[in-house]
Amino acid sequence: MPQDKTANADNIEHQRLTSLVNSMADGVIAVDSAGKIALYNGAALNILDNNSSMQGKPLDSVLKPIDKDNQPVDVYELIQNTKTSTFSRDYRLAYSDGSLINLYLSIAPVHLGYGKDNEHGYVLLIRDITREKSLEEERDEFISVVSHELRTPIAIAEGNISNAQFIVGKKAPDPVILKALDEAHKQTLFLSGMINDLSTLSRAERDKLSYEVEAINAHDLVLELVANYQPSAAQKGLKIIADVDDHLELLHSGRLYVQEILQNFITNAIKYTEKGTVTLGAKPTAKGVVFSITDSGIGISKSDQQKVFDKFFRSEDYRTRANNGTGLGLYVTIKLVRLLHGEVEVESELNVGSTFKVTFPNLK
Ligand code: ADP
Repeated sequence: MPQDKTANADNIEHQRLTSLVNSMADGVIAVDSAGKIALYNGAALNILDNNSSMQGKPLDSVLKPIDKDNQPVDVYELIQNTKTSTFSRDYRLAYSDGSLINLYLSIAPVHLGYGKDNEHGYVLLIRDITREKSLEEERDEFISVVSHELRTPIAIAEGNISNAQFIVGKKAPDPVILKALDEAHKQTLFLSGMINDLSTLSRAERDKLSYEVEAINAHDLVLELVANYQPSAAQKGLKIIADVDDHLELLHSGRLYVQEILQNFITNAIKYTEKGTVTLGAKPTAKGVVFSITDSGIGISKSDQQKVFDKFFRSEDYRTRANNGTGLGLYVTIKLVRLLHGEVEVESELNVGSTFKVTFPNLK
């Protein structure tokens, strides 16, 4: 009979789906809109150290993650606040024998019916990432130690080369020696910038970054930065100008990091601009200050705009590759911006220029 046929086909489809989900190495848990478990696989039982049925049980009775500060996480709140797929690698699970594992948790809201608003749920993927996390921690520790140890010799080399440049420059200078010293100096400066980025990066990854909220005079900060970068802009024949709103008030945030963030954007603006102007602006917003760094440089394509904040990303454009770089600057920058609860926006057009806007809220 046709109805039987449909039921049979549905059954086969269901069995296929169940064996597919069961064959996955990651734990899968599907919950309905009320947070009750509708489907799960064997891997989920393993990771949750559970050997009884979870069908129909409330999610928070079986999945009890804790956060970095060992505080319990409200999984209902977590899933209900999930509007688009998200994941976290920062939660942990405590087992009854006292051991802890690091958990990868991804949450995706799903609609189970078309046009029926109330038929929705969530699919959770869980994975034990304890080993990965400990390797990452070892790597970060290694980077931190190495970058710390490299700092002093590089600073000494830089100082000595700079002295040699000065002394050679005073006597009848041999252009070959001058050029060699100049190149050596440029490369040591690049190395020290890279080591700084690596060190900030490893501290950021290990959540070792901290700051004190201070009152920052945004107006003076912009003028100071413009003055500091005047020589390197002039060296490339660029103009660097300030565009500051007179109504700026004090910004309460972490001064050193605000400065480091703006410096990273300005360095890039100068680096990736061949002619024209770099403008550093600041305006008040309802909750803080928005700084903007605009250049008339090579620009960033639409697809690259999505990637500029990724670790080690550098555009394939030959004009980018003509400059030294590690692809770490903006990755570190966005970490610092998030630490200060700020936001970044990029607007850019290839061969026209780019604007990076960074908004800092008052933290007091
Ligand atoms: P780096 O400059 O060391 O390559 P960043 O992380 O600072 O690394 O920047 C990542 C990439 O983003 C750069 O390689 C470049 O392709 C692009 N980029 C960043 N800022 C600009 C800019 N102002 N104009 C054009 N491209 C930029």
